[in-house]
Amino acid sequence: MKSDPQQYTAGSMGLNPVTLSFPDETERHFLRRYLHDSLFQLRVAFVLIVLLYALFGFLDLMKVPEHVAYFHRIRFAYVIPFLLLVYVLSFTKFFARVWQELLMLSFIVAGSGIALMIIEVPENFAYYGGMMLIFSAGYFFIKLRFFAASVAGWLTLLIFDAVAIVAGTIEPLTLVTVNFFYISANVIGMMAAYYIELYARRDFYLNKQLTQEQEKVLEANRTLEQKVVERTAQLTQRNIELIAAKEQAERSDNFKSLFLANMSHEIRTPMNGILGFAELIRGADDPTEIAENVDVIITNGKHLLDLINDIVDISKIEAGLMELKKRTFDLNGLMRELHVFFENDPMVLRKNLEIRMCLDLPDGVRITADRMRLKQVLDNLLKNACKFTRQGHVEFGYRYQNDILVFSVKDTGVGIAEEEKEMIFQRFMQVATNITPNEEGSGLGLTISKAIVNAMGGDMWMESTLGEGSTFYFNLPIEPSESISLHTDFQHTTLMESNWSDKTILVAEDVATNYLLVKKSLRKTDVQLVWAKTGLEAVEAVQNNPAIDLVLMDIRMPVMNGLDATREIKELRPNLPIIAQTAYAMDGDRENSIEAGCDDYISKPINLKLFIELIAKYLD
Ligand code: ADP
Repeated sequence: MKSDPQQYTAGSMGLNPVTLSFPDETERHFLRRYLHDSLFQLRVAFVLIVLLYALFGFLDLMKVPEHVAYFHRIRFAYVIPFLLLVYVLSFTKFFARVWQELLMLSFIVAGSGIALMIIEVPENFAYYGGMMLIFSAGYFFIKLRFFAASVAGWLTLLIFDAVAIVAGTIEPLTLVTVNFFYISANVIGMMAAYYIELYARRDFYLNKQLTQEQEKVLEANRTLEQKVVERTAQLTQRNIELIAAKEQAERSDNFKSLFLANMSHEIRTPMNGILGFAELIRGADDPTEIAENVDVIITNGKHLLDLINDIVDISKIEAGLMELKKRTFDLNGLMRELHVFFENDPMVLRKNLEIRMCLDLPDGVRITADRMRLKQVLDNLLKNACKFTRQGHVEFGYRYQNDILVFSVKDTGVGIAEEEKEMIFQRFMQVATNITPNEEGSGLGLTISKAIVNAMGGDMWMESTLGEGSTFYFNLPIEPSESISLHTDFQHTTLMESNWSDKTILVAEDVATNYLLVKKSLRKTDVQLVWAKTGLEAVEAVQNNPAIDLVLMDIRMPVMNGLDATREIKELRPNLPIIAQTAYAMDGDRENSIEAGCDDYISKPINLKLFIELIAKYLD
């Protein structure tokens, strides 16, 4: 890059040597800049020239009184009006386009004015100097560019010479003499104008380059800043990840220590029993006592075996080796097996717990899944439910909807505190507060169960209230099988019997998919549906639509909940039946909905058959 301004010649800047124009877009930018920078000087020059031109009118009076009328016509009717016109035009937008041409004309007009005066009175030498003033003003003062100024200068001289020769008033020698002066003035003017413009252009060119370099530096700075920001973000992210990994490692380490301590305790307890009672057998000879001791050894042995199975399972899950063996089996058969088993469990009998079962599909329906693993999960949940319930009942079963089975195991046991809920699905975690010596476990059951359910494509979750009980849920997507379609058809045939095309049901439900489900479930009945997305909308719908025959009311809704909406609707139309849709196992919701005035309730996820039957009760 050139750094010394001296090195910038017209050629090195790519300028046209005659017109001094830039070769590209730069020319336009330069001219705009040049006009902008010239306007003030140009206007001052014009005012001054007009004043001088007028003042010289006094000279006419004194020097050539007999020609004054003619001279004043030249000054005041020709030159000054033209200069004033250009001055006025310099305030218009139009000026930018033709300003150089107008300045050229001004040069020529002012010059030819003087020429006319010289030719009229050639012996009046003072006026020859006037022409020199015009040349100097034209080349240096009015900001005419080099090329235009040169053209105007030479034209002015040409006009002067031509008119002088034609008029023949000036002595040839005088004419030659003045030409010496005027040609010199023109050459000097041209040279000066050339360098003035060249420097103006060089300044512009350098400025432009400077700006470009500055832009580059700024851009480099911006890129650098951006890079620093990105790198810092990456490092911060990496730090966060490292901290998380470290915490995870510490947690697993803690888990492992906890697990080992737990396992050691778990294994020692039954081993103590086994060894202790075996020792007792050695010394005993009463057959009843021996039999009792053997029973204790067997129980402890089974406990140990369960523990070993759990450890094997968790190791398989950890290593990703758990395999599912799918086969088709009778779903209700499995459920009944579990029912009988737990009803006769000694712990259940001792606590006098009632084991209830609810099945959604008719007997004989077969599904395809890993029966053993499904049984293991249910067994685990039921065992926990019985273990952590001192009195009351345990209810287990499933619902079927859209190829998904939702299993649940509900108990009226000790429940789980809010802050413990997160933990219980984690490995080796037990809730210390709800465990009594009889309820000891390894803390692996739920981890294994959840992992099995996940491997089967489902998920496990729970709801619980401390002191009231818990419900564990898991869902299981199943492939539609023939026997299930048979069941679905069976539902449809029941549906076909109902035709409610003249009835209208208001569905108050904020979740679009739930509304869609209701809509699809009722499609065959031809019933008219009105959808309200909040409790408030439901109240308004009842107010505005007397044709509504029944309301399906979701309890949890935004703006106004289902209970408040029910109360308001019952005030408007006390006899309009309202069926609450409550979350499955939320006992509080059911009671509250009846209290608020609902005529009935149905649990979600909705059982299609029960749902239609319930609606039929109020519509038919
Ligand atoms: P454990 O072998 O200890 O039962 P789990 O993984 O099955 O291991 O359960 C973890 C912990 O979760 C239990 O120790 C218990 O504190 C709590 N828990 C599990 N099921 C229930 C339930 N139905 N009611 C109350 N607490 C439960």
